[in-house]
Amino acid sequence: MAETTTELEEHLKKFFGFDQFRGLQKQVITSLLNKEDVFVIMPTGGGKSLCYQLPALMQEGTAIVVSPLIALMKNQVDAIRGISDHDGVAHVLNSSLNKGEIQQVKDDIANGVTKLLYVAPESLTKDEYADFLKEHKISFLAVDEAHCISEWGHDFRPEYRNLRKIIDRIDEGIPIIGLTATATPKVREDILKNLHIQDATSYQASFNRPNLYYEVRPKTGQVDSDITRFIKGNEGKSGIVYCLSRKRVEELAQVLQVNGIKAVPYHAGLDAKTRVKHQDMFLMEDVDVVVATIAFGMGIDKPDVRFVIHHDIPKSIESYYQETGRAGRDGGEGHCLAYYSYKDIEKLEKFMSGKPIAEQEIGHALLQEMVGYAETSMSRRQFILHYFGEEFDPATGDGGDMDDNMRNPKPQKEAVDDVKKLINVIEASGERYKSKDIVNIMMGKTNAMISSHKLDQQDFFGSGKDKEPTYWTALIRQVLVARYIKKDIESYGTLQLLDAGKDFVKTGKTFMMTEDHAYHLDDASPKVQGGATDNRLVKMLKDLRKKVGAQKNVPPYVVFQDPSLDDMATKYPITMEEMANIHGVGEGKARKYGAKFLELINQYVEDNDITRPDDLIIKSTGSKSGNKLYFITSIDRKLSFDDIASAKGMEMNDLINELESIVYSGTKLNVGYWVEEMLDEDQQEELHEYFLESETDGIDEAMEEFDGDYEEEEIRLYRLKFISEVAN
Ligand code: ADP
Ligand code: MG
Repeated sequence: MAETTTELEEHLKKFFGFDQFRGLQKQVITSLLNKEDVFVIMPTGGGKSLCYQLPALMQEGTAIVVSPLIALMKNQVDAIRGISDHDGVAHVLNSSLNKGEIQQVKDDIANGVTKLLYVAPESLTKDEYADFLKEHKISFLAVDEAHCISEWGHDFRPEYRNLRKIIDRIDEGIPIIGLTATATPKVREDILKNLHIQDATSYQASFNRPNLYYEVRPKTGQVDSDITRFIKGNEGKSGIVYCLSRKRVEELAQVLQVNGIKAVPYHAGLDAKTRVKHQDMFLMEDVDVVVATIAFGMGIDKPDVRFVIHHDIPKSIESYYQETGRAGRDGGEGHCLAYYSYKDIEKLEKFMSGKPIAEQEIGHALLQEMVGYAETSMSRRQFILHYFGEEFDPATGDGGDMDDNMRNPKPQKEAVDDVKKLINVIEASGERYKSKDIVNIMMGKTNAMISSHKLDQQDFFGSGKDKEPTYWTALIRQVLVARYIKKDIESYGTLQLLDAGKDFVKTGKTFMMTEDHAYHLDDASPKVQGGATDNRLVKMLKDLRKKVGAQKNVPPYVVFQDPSLDDMATKYPITMEEMANIHGVGEGKARKYGAKFLELINQYVEDNDITRPDDLIIKSTGSKSGNKLYFITSIDRKLSFDDIASAKGMEMNDLINELESIVYSGTKLNVGYWVEEMLDEDQQEELHEYFLESETDGIDEAMEEFDGDYEEEEIRLYRLKFISEVAN
């Protein structure tokens, strides 16, 4: 069909009311009208639907659109019906239709009224439908969210794998258009192969979103406060916070709410009505923030989302890209902040452990890329774009300085010799090993595989011992991005040389590298913007604690515990109210010991010109307060601990945890009656002496001191009594 330029624009105007095509839309549509197979990669919001809707409306026959989600199909059908005078113009064919409705769909197709037929892939496999469609004119087949075909994609759907067979049954000659927002080179290859459209005309819009700012922060125990503070610093702006679990979603939404942020939760465990309500509240700006699992976002088209926070690291870079892609769609500000801790990676790995091995291998490889992203100190934008097979130079590219690493660069080091060493080792070992194995070989660290392959007998074994393993991991990633080596995907990531790498060994003169961030070294939690612990202040607070303890004749830890001092040195409380909000400090304790500490902090803040975060009072939800009252009254009534625990469905261990947090924040609990039940007089005396004289109230130390004389629970129980009586 030969449409002139203006004719296409006229159709666009007539059907959709738009004046101009966006990006690559026009080229895509022209190809499809020319009966070519087409493959389209365009970011979310780029306007993919129009690429098949318009040609479908313009042509004779019915276009079949395969899409993974019924909700998405329904939205599109409604939209298309809205621009036509005949409802039959678009239909969804799925299992929820009754006989009469199915007949209606068939009649409309037979009469040439239906231009777009949306189907889920599993419906298409039904003989009844396939046979029917075979008899009628099909203009083309569109596969939306085509990455679902690939198990290397982030939402693999096995049913997508049967599409080719079905197409052949219906009419093997019809043009096919595949569309997706995210596809790594591997996923893209899977799609083309699986649909048998290797010769398709491909259109790929750049993945670069220059207006998005990428940042990773270490995830500490303070993550809720940090997020609260971030959002308060962005008051009135729309944002999404993603959490992995429903429980976390609920908790965090509450924390935000009690801190005066207009936030609602969203996850698949809420009933449909609530979900729709919360989504609408967000779209209508009745709330600023949605705290959600990844169930939220598909089909959300809010142009002015200003931040997307990941409380938990996602399971692949594709997911991360897709989720952060919801920020700044209008081209304005879009802050993408992820919290990262290696512990979360281990958690995700555990989730995968029940799955088939091949799936685990894939999941693991995707996760390692995510670790790479989090820990890298190179341009995050370059890292992401490299992942999607796109070259990017942060020095000249759009948005090159829009991430934390580029704003605060780590010093670079000359590593030309190490790069050559590394490439040589990869080559000499036969280009058969993954990153982790190569690092082990460099370090001279043996394991079953290494010794069975006799790698430990090679002269290059251990040739990189002078460096840390993390150094080699980082270098490998940077050499990958420089395209001197590549990761072979079929073999789940073995490292292989590229020509540029071979040349580099011969002629390379310089390679500047930056070492990775060390987020998972416990001792060195890196500086959090506006939230780092001030070690000098900690030291002063500890001195004061010792003095106060001595005056009151109690061990220092009875005054305040270490985490409380750390928190003070992070938040710089200067009023009694702020003090009572410090971790582990309740009102009682603030009143009893707080004054001197406030005085010191005040002086310190003044002397050192410290700007305190003005919104530092982060309230906790008090979600435990209901229980707290129950515990206090039950203990007043001298109920047995077993009964209290079982009344709340708790283990004894958890009950003691709760009681500890009550006692340590300054509330007195008269647990003596229960201690009497559990310990005899001599034992009590012995423990009392111990705690009075000990430097620490640590349980491990006490267990060691008594070397098995007491159960851990008994020691903790006594400690409750001790802290209650001596400190409170
Ligand atoms: P994608 O599927 O790529 O994520 P959609 O097809 O849902 O994106 O389109 C996103 C939005 O862009 C829709 O609201 C759509 O109406 C709009 N849109 C698409 N093409 C154009 C155009 N040429 N001019 C104006 N708006 C457009
Ligand atoms: Mg779409």
